[in-house]
Amino acid sequence: MTVYAGPVFAMAANQFNVIANHLEIPLDERARLLMPKRAVTVSCPIHRDDGTVAVFEGYRVQHHLTMGPTKGGTRFSPSVDIGEVAALAIWMSWKCALVGLPYGGAKGGINVDPSKISPRELEVLSRRYMQEMIPFVGPHTDVMAPDMGTNEQVMAWFMDTYSMYQGRTVTEIVTGKPVASGGTLGRREATGRGVAHLAKRVLKELSISLNNATAVIQGFGNVGSYAALQLHHCGLKVIAVSDHTGALHHADGLDIPALMRHADAHGSIAGFSNELHFDPEEILTLACDVLVPAAMERVIDAKVADNLKCRVLAEGANGPTTPDADLVLEKRQDEIFLIPDILCNSGGVVVSYFEWVQDLQQLFWEEEEVTQREYHILDRAFDQMVARSKADKISHRTAAMAIGVEKVRAAKKTRGLFP
Ligand code: NAD
Repeated sequence: MTVYAGPVFAMAANQFNVIANHLEIPLDERARLLMPKRAVTVSCPIHRDDGTVAVFEGYRVQHHLTMGPTKGGTRFSPSVDIGEVAALAIWMSWKCALVGLPYGGAKGGINVDPSKISPRELEVLSRRYMQEMIPFVGPHTDVMAPDMGTNEQVMAWFMDTYSMYQGRTVTEIVTGKPVASGGTLGRREATGRGVAHLAKRVLKELSISLNNATAVIQGFGNVGSYAALQLHHCGLKVIAVSDHTGALHHADGLDIPALMRHADAHGSIAGFSNELHFDPEEILTLACDVLVPAAMERVIDAKVADNLKCRVLAEGANGPTTPDADLVLEKRQDEIFLIPDILCNSGGVVVSYFEWVQDLQQLFWEEEEVTQREYHILDRAFDQMVARSKADKISHRTAAMAIGVEKVRAAKKTRGLFP
């Protein structure tokens, strides 16, 4: 039994065991690789707008510190608990190692529904959370970034709060900041662009013309909207999108730039059109060339996996596919090309790494350079994953995770066990 027990942690542990069996990692080495190094729970009291005091629970989990600082997003969501955060931190570790970044994984969050608090309450809660985290984070210890329910503004508040306590501006404490506050060009778009870049690459390898191809996107936040926009710019028809308010469908392709303007102005896709409504339950099983789950975990279970009608499954979200569904996808691998989450959405952390490097050096790059370097890293990791999958006759997910786990294991081995 562990404090992390829960369905999301069980999923991360289950996936790790598959990899550990494949790599024949001795049993006594496994817990050292899997279990998080540090976890902290904080209570964040704030004054509500009505004058009462409310207390929100916040978490941060640092998975391993073997290769450098830890790195990972901060999630504001009512589903957040310490087990979910730990699982997300573990996935970040394999992801950073897969793409070759000098980081361990971390994740954090507050159990709160950001749509149910006012903008002022969001600011004081964000600042209080960062203030509570000061003893545990630092530019060379643990660097935060946005995730579900947080955005550039929240990162700016985090950075400002940390800086006020240090008595100087410390931009390198968080990534995903506004460009005006030390952020990098290309970070806002990075995750979605990376998803679209890899999906496009697979379509080309499958000889599917971009102009005849269709895409379906679940989730229209940072990842989903920029993935949709990039695919739209490349000539694909984005025939359906959904968010927490509902779904829209148009067989000729939705007007994604207009939908993004609407979602920016109104906070969701609700109210964009009265005619294009669609059952959100059916979005994942619509026939399309590229399916991008970009909302949350465990939305593709074995039943959904059986009913998928896409050619490419590009996992924008973290952990959208359950281990049971993976077994189905393995049987269907000739029909469905899986780009697993730890590769598919890694453009976000890759460009966060670039932001951290630029902040440390106070030397800023053009957007073109950021994006070209991002694609170069994604392509390299994609080639390694495909080669490993073919050589070992294993699924893409197993191959990607095996590369990540192996790199962390090698670093731990050469450093030895202290003391
Ligand atoms: P976000 O908060 O910007 O957007 C989340 C979107 O999901 C919103 O449009 C929301 O309405 C939608 N959503 C919520 N519940 C839904 C439901 N039941 N059905 C359909 N849509 C629903 O979050 P984000 O940053 O885009 O993150 C999305 C996913 O991508 C998460 O799994 C996150 O961990 C992962 N991710 C994000 C980044 C990043 O750079 N932001 C990087 C890597 C991975």
